[in-house]
Amino acid sequence: MPHEFHLLIDGTERAGSTGEAGDVLDPATGEKIGQVAYASVQDLREAVATTARGLRDWAATPPWERGRVLKRAADILRSDLEAAALTITREQGKPLAQARTEVERSADFLEWGGEQARRISDRLIPGRTRGSRVEIRSLPIGVVAAFTPWNFPMALAAKKFAGALGAGCSIICKPSQETPGPVLVMARALLEAGVTPAALAVVFGHANQVSDHLVAAREVTKLTFTGSIPIGKRLAAAAGAEVKSVTMELGGHAPVIICSDVDPEWAADMLADAKFSNAGQICLSPSRFFVEASIQERFTTRFVERAKARRVGAGTDPASEMGPLANARRLAAVEELVEDARSRGASVLVGGKRVGQRGFFYAPTVITDVPDDAEILHQEPFGPIAPILPFNDEAAMLERANRPEFGLAAYVVTHDIGRQRRLIDALEYGVVGVNGPVTHYPEAALGGWKESGIGTEGGIEILEPYQRTKQVSLR
Ligand code: NAD
Repeated sequence: MPHEFHLLIDGTERAGSTGEAGDVLDPATGEKIGQVAYASVQDLREAVATTARGLRDWAATPPWERGRVLKRAADILRSDLEAAALTITREQGKPLAQARTEVERSADFLEWGGEQARRISDRLIPGRTRGSRVEIRSLPIGVVAAFTPWNFPMALAAKKFAGALGAGCSIICKPSQETPGPVLVMARALLEAGVTPAALAVVFGHANQVSDHLVAAREVTKLTFTGSIPIGKRLAAAAGAEVKSVTMELGGHAPVIICSDVDPEWAADMLADAKFSNAGQICLSPSRFFVEASIQERFTTRFVERAKARRVGAGTDPASEMGPLANARRLAAVEELVEDARSRGASVLVGGKRVGQRGFFYAPTVITDVPDDAEILHQEPFGPIAPILPFNDEAAMLERANRPEFGLAAYVVTHDIGRQRRLIDALEYGVVGVNGPVTHYPEAALGGWKESGIGTEGGIEILEPYQRTKQVSLR
């Protein structure tokens, strides 16, 4: 029997009112493992009306108590970590060890949102006339519509639930219909922990229909999205037309600058692990490898060895180091990017093809001699492809590194402190990793520059995107 993933509205899980449903596939086999309920317009109206009602109760819940509830939800998630991790692996494909880390990180985010809730405070400013004062209150912004993707189906939603619920907002989340389970698992933990049932809803459906409805709904005052730049632009434009607040965490195309002073084998080992993690489907993933020419050969040889040695297999097999791509669409996109580079003269040193004919596996791939007009240098690869781009002239390399409209993550690999500082300053990116990968921990804010986003998530500022102020002038 395929698993049924239902809509969650007002604490109740149920099918959509029209009975429409979509298939959920196991990316390791391509086979159907479940069915996800699609929301009708009537269901969406109900979700909006319910969360508008839930907002009143949850916003009035003292922040100290909201903190307690979010901490409890984090503990519930941790207590059933194995089952939650399995849900991620079955629907998204990543190895179980990586799925476990994702559940832990999700719990950390919920806990952090709860801790920051306990630090909410208003400000009192002396007025300009004797005895007067001005009060600045930090209040929940209202009903939040959150759209979350399939690559970290629990953690990327956890950031939004943590901020929104911590601030006292209610939230309607539309996860990707390809990975419906992980957000439902987290939402159940939040309900069990004591979140007002009407203060959260999880809906699935035709993406455009859901987002058009939610963005236009008068009650929805905040939009938060993690996903691709084209969809982010579409949603931001719609929200702008309604003068609604937006947070956007969009794609990246991270340059990695590997300087000649480092041990090339060490750098290749570290970067191959970062590149092939989650099969390259990470917005922070290193994706354009600028290697100083004098170490390029040694770096490339070792990187190719690491790519070859990577054990690719189903995420449920403990021996697997890299799972399949998450869906057939991603597999086709990755195949197209490699074929495009090949047709323009690039050399494929390893990989460059599917692994088997079952499921959506693609081999860890390294390419060189990549011409500037190859699509892979302009489109986010979001897959296990590493283009190696040798350089001699630092200024020219930096111009190429900064050229795309992406501005999420960049990496610098050098032990030369002066060079580190120069490169960090020159890179037009919201996150710079030095001599190691970047992981988003809740205590540090992260956000993209240029077309990679608007605003940040996490950090001591985690609640801010979900708050609005009220100035009260007292005489
Ligand atoms: P896509 O552009 O169709 O969708 C991206 C995400 O947005 C998905 O989660 C999807 O469910 C959602 N979505 C699509 N239309 C929507 C709408 N109208 N309203 C709300 N949400 C909507 O692409 P895709 O094939 O699913 O993913 C491929 C690209 O997405 C990648 O190349 C990558 O750039 C980007 N992506 C980025 C992240 C990230 O963490 N920043 C995560 C997933 C995907």
